Amino acid sequence: MGMTIESFKERLKEGILDGKLLSTFLRAEIKQKVEALTQQPHLAAIIIGNDPASQMYVKYKQKACQQVRMTSSVEILSPEITSHELADYLDQLNQDKEINGILLQLPLPAHLKELDVLMGIDPSKDVDGLHFANVGKLHLGLSGFVPATPGGIMQMLKHSGTELKGQNVVVIGRSNLVGKPIARLLEIEHATVTQCHSRTQFLSEFTNKADILIAAAGKKHLITEVMVKSNSVIIDVGTNSVDGKLYGDVDFDQVKHKVKLISPVPGGVGPMTITMLLQNTLDAFNLQNV
Ligand code: NAD
Repeated sequence: MGMTIESFKERLKEGILDGKLLSTFLRAEIKQKVEALTQQPHLAAIIIGNDPASQMYVKYKQKACQQVRMTSSVEILSPEITSHELADYLDQLNQDKEINGILLQLPLPAHLKELDVLMGIDPSKDVDGLHFANVGKLHLGLSGFVPATPGGIMQMLKHSGTELKGQNVVVIGRSNLVGKPIARLLEIEHATVTQCHSRTQFLSEFTNKADILIAAAGKKHLITEVMVKSNSVIIDVGTNSVDGKLYGDVDFDQVKHKVKLISPVPGGVGPMTITMLLQNTLDAFNLQNV
């Protein structure tokens, strides 16, 4: 375990924020904590319909649960399920004392309203942090479940020793899953946060002033060398699949030499996201078993 955090620190010296190594370290810590419990935390995943990408994501999450000795289950529901039937099903999971975390894999079929459906998950089992009770807590700076991707980014920044207080942070993206929550988390840590999005004019005027840049637009190589500030810290959240290859929102090869730290794609934010889901499930277990 000490070895992986040392390797992570070595990579920092090379300018790389290695989410895979940090993830390995954090998962080993989670595993130790789980092994000390008398009961295994359980994550219940739900997939609606037969989207192959959703099935793959859930498989990764289940594998990660196994790695840290948590149990998990997956239920594949019909794509024709009505919102009432789904609410009833979620309620069964809410009542089930053996289940600590509920994960509803998104996206949902078009006839289901995502925000309405998510409200059917008990906030104390909402390990994706998408119920409005958890969203509201984050907005107020209270503790609750934080979505896994922004949670993972905060861990990467923390473990890299990056100062946040008073720093200019630019977030590109304003989704409920990434952009909005990461902006709140950074502001809580006293950063000065600017949020850019698809209607932002002259994006580079903002990115050029960023001590820390979080790119979560989902546009391959949106960020080029001339758009980043020298010696800044870059977190690339984007995962853009082109011809079976994964690209970030940042042109890594161009930008790397100019900045202090950059997270690669793959091997950056991705593994950290799953790790934070495990952490949230462990937290849910502990909160339910006080
Ligand atoms: P989204 O499509 O919901 O939101 C994208 C945001 O980017 C929007 O707010 C939009 O306004 C903004 N945007 C789009 N084009 C832009 C442009 N040209 N300039 C400025 N802003 C622009 O996506 P999301 O769910 O927030 O995810 C963002 C990216 O992060 C995607 O590539 C997604 O695959 C990836 N992602 C990765 C992980 C991970 O674990 N690595 C997790 C979640 C999302």
